[in-house]
Amino acid sequence: MCGVFGIHNHPEAANLAYLGLHAQQHRGQESAGVVSSDGGTLHAVRKMGYVADVFDERRLARLVGRTAIGHVRYTTAGGSLPKNIQPLTAELRIGAVAIVHNGNLVNADALREELETQGSIFSSNADTEVILQLMARSPERELVDRLAHALSRVRGAYSLVLTMGDQLVAARDPHGFRPLVLGRVPGDEACWVVASETCAFDLIGAERVRDLEPGEIVRIDASGIESVKMAPSPRSLCVFEHVYFSRPDTTIDGASVYEARIEMGAALSREHPVEADVVIPVPDSGVVAAMGYARAAGLPFEMGLIRNHYVGRTFIEPKDSIRHFGVRLKLNAVPEVLRGKRVVVVDDSIVRGTTSRKIVKMIREAGASEVHVRISSPPVTHPCYYGIDTPTRSELIAASHSVDEVARYITADSVAYLTPEGLLNSVADTGGFCTACFTGAYPVPFSGATGRRQLRLIEV
Ligand code: 5GP
Ligand code: SF4
Ligand code: MG
Repeated sequence: MCGVFGIHNHPEAANLAYLGLHAQQHRGQESAGVVSSDGGTLHAVRKMGYVADVFDERRLARLVGRTAIGHVRYTTAGGSLPKNIQPLTAELRIGAVAIVHNGNLVNADALREELETQGSIFSSNADTEVILQLMARSPERELVDRLAHALSRVRGAYSLVLTMGDQLVAARDPHGFRPLVLGRVPGDEACWVVASETCAFDLIGAERVRDLEPGEIVRIDASGIESVKMAPSPRSLCVFEHVYFSRPDTTIDGASVYEARIEMGAALSREHPVEADVVIPVPDSGVVAAMGYARAAGLPFEMGLIRNHYVGRTFIEPKDSIRHFGVRLKLNAVPEVLRGKRVVVVDDSIVRGTTSRKIVKMIREAGASEVHVRISSPPVTHPCYYGIDTPTRSELIAASHSVDEVARYITADSVAYLTPEGLLNSVADTGGFCTACFTGAYPVPFSGATGRRQLRLIEV
């Protein structure tokens, strides 16, 4: 998961990109970067760390120009390394270009192999660089034509933003796996923005115009905005954007994430009611679904677990050792809420089960008499190849354990998951969804270990 941002024709382009990334920090905490364009030259700041730590006034002041793109990242393809920090940049014959990418290409390794055989030298091991290399070889003269040429060869998930000269270009893959939304900053002059999530627009005072259509490439320059369509495929927006990844104050393809989560919780309560005294969420990701559950069940909603917000999302920490430690760093129980109570605890998903196990233990130690775990999505049984760093199949607890076995493992009195129908009915009908991680029905076939090529140069 990553977050992207782009802004065209604004005197404070880099500052707004910085804010747009800050609002999307939840989509990736490993590194952040902004590249601005002054019309000819690109200016880059790219570093490991949180947005607030990567940028300061001095660095932002050096990002001159009226166009800027930015990225927050956590590793899916390629390693967690400085050379993979986005925006990636390249000098093409037609000019210097910068690109940001949310998603994962499923044929990046095969293309890289082919390009290397023909003499391409790669400077990162990110799948995104394949797009730049394909663009470098394209005979086309225009940026957008070179991009279309490159995209005709890649498969998988991509929401992209590019800049070159005074142009801003945005593209969403033909399936629309990842969100990408177009907006405007009100004012006299036309100032366009693009972002992964609408919450980025709210912070900078931009208005949502519309989401990019799957398979759409949008080009913005001084002469205005124009749109090119690639051959469409059946839409497969990642349903987990609604379950977990996106912020609840975001809308995707016009559908409110908050309302979807409330409805998921309500559906979960109808499907799996339980005699209980209190409903609590696993903050933050379970909060809205837990409210929906409590409301539908007529039970009190309390905060029985308190989150320390100064620790990133545990799952995103790349090392297992840190992750295990992270649960304790992040959450603490409130005995006053839990003592002697039959507790329903609502979370969005169980992946490995290790976090859930610790949470159940924590709730019991705080005095709960019963702990019933309710999950606002179906069991995750298959890995994701479209930009989410899920573990391998063998690490997914639901891939090899029944619901009762999961309950035993996490030491809960009961566990129940929302059904696939319950989930899909909860999300406003905006078309097709990818549900591969709980159905195994992959919209784009996958073969091989994409984007995980071995590193042959490590900077220390
Ligand atoms: P587990 O109990 O499986 O160790 O952890 C479950 C928690 O991981 C949930 O609270 C969920 O919010 C969180 N989580 C973090 N990253 C991801 C992700 O990429 N996918 C899913 N489905 N859940 C994630
Ligand atoms: Fe989303 Fe799962 Fe599909 Fe990946 S496999 S895009 S996480 S629904
Ligand atoms: Mg969570």
